[in-house]
Amino acid sequence: MQISIRGLTKIYQTEGKTFRALDDVNLTIDANTIFTLLGPSGCGKTTLLRSIVGLENPDSGEIRIGDEIVFSSEKNIYLPPEKRGLGMVFQTYAIWPHMDVFNNVAYPLQNQNVSKEEIKKRVAETLALVQLGGYENRPATKLSGGQQQRVALARALVAKPKVILFDEPLSNLDAKLREETRKELRAFLSELGITAIYVTHDRIEALALSDVIAVMRSGKIIEKGDPHKIYFRPDSQFVADFIGRANLLAGTIGTCEGEFALVETAIGKIKAMNPKAFPVNTKVVVCVRPEFIRLSSLRDERENNLFKGIMQHLVFIGEAYEADIKIGDTLLTTTVSPTKSIQEGDEIAIAFDAQHAFIVSE
Ligand code: ATP
Repeated sequence: MQISIRGLTKIYQTEGKTFRALDDVNLTIDANTIFTLLGPSGCGKTTLLRSIVGLENPDSGEIRIGDEIVFSSEKNIYLPPEKRGLGMVFQTYAIWPHMDVFNNVAYPLQNQNVSKEEIKKRVAETLALVQLGGYENRPATKLSGGQQQRVALARALVAKPKVILFDEPLSNLDAKLREETRKELRAFLSELGITAIYVTHDRIEALALSDVIAVMRSGKIIEKGDPHKIYFRPDSQFVADFIGRANLLAGTIGTCEGEFALVETAIGKIKAMNPKAFPVNTKVVVCVRPEFIRLSSLRDERENNLFKGIMQHLVFIGEAYEADIKIGDTLLTTTVSPTKSIQEGDEIAIAFDAQHAFIVSE
């Protein structure tokens, strides 16, 4: 089911001040995609999710789920949450500790006109789907964190929602379980072919789970795209920095050569991709991800982007060293294989290909 949002604004009044938690949000979420809202704390992700569900009443704009308008300030339409046909999974699983698994999952159906037989059948089907078949009589408190989260998922799915919404559902799990559950959830949602809207401030979770990521900042959607686009070709410095580790070098475009440009920066001229075709003299930022910076021979002058510097810091993190390289007054970060015999203070050269450096707006 497609969701379309037009001109959505939500204003909070606190201590005499007005605050735009949502500021003219326009967004289309295609049917059967896993769509993630990603952004720093306080950017408005939860407010947007709650507005779609109907737990929040925005000040203006319109929300459509499929062909149905569920909210419109202009047409004075506000459909309550139970009439929107959505399922929701919260951060705190919100499963009831005094009930067993069956009753937790059956709960949404017990409020509807569904026969006991049908409830039994649907609960069994849904528990099988989340791989908890046979757990019906287990008290909710006797489940692991990951299992509790799957009960919450089953409860959100049992009423066959058109869309399922997740508000940071994995943040209470430990790191290893979070990783496992993330994989399971991705496989599960893809197989189910349901529209899912997922809120997180964890960039790895967003990259690993999503078909589409929308990055929010100060109540606005500032960029939307698939994970590869957001990671490798973001439009702005903010998104480049938020989605992953990034070396960001401010500069001015000197010359343009087809899809590349030469940018004058503090460390020298950098040849980089110019996907937004910024013209000469534009102030921009060059982004190079650490994984694309390699140690190079000092003599190799054929490299696209070759710079000499000093190995400033080497920090051992198991599979590699995290390395800071000082070039003039600028520090660049990269990772170095533990097999390399390099020490802090060594004079070194680094290189990166022009197609792995990209220009973003300031
Ligand atoms: P987080 O990742 O920390 O959960 P978020 O991106 O989900 O953040 P929201 O919860 O949507 O952010 O909040 C957006 C902004 O609106 C925040 O600055 C918050 O302080 C403010 N806000 C949220 N709810 C209210 C409220 N009921 N009254 C006043 N301000 C609010």
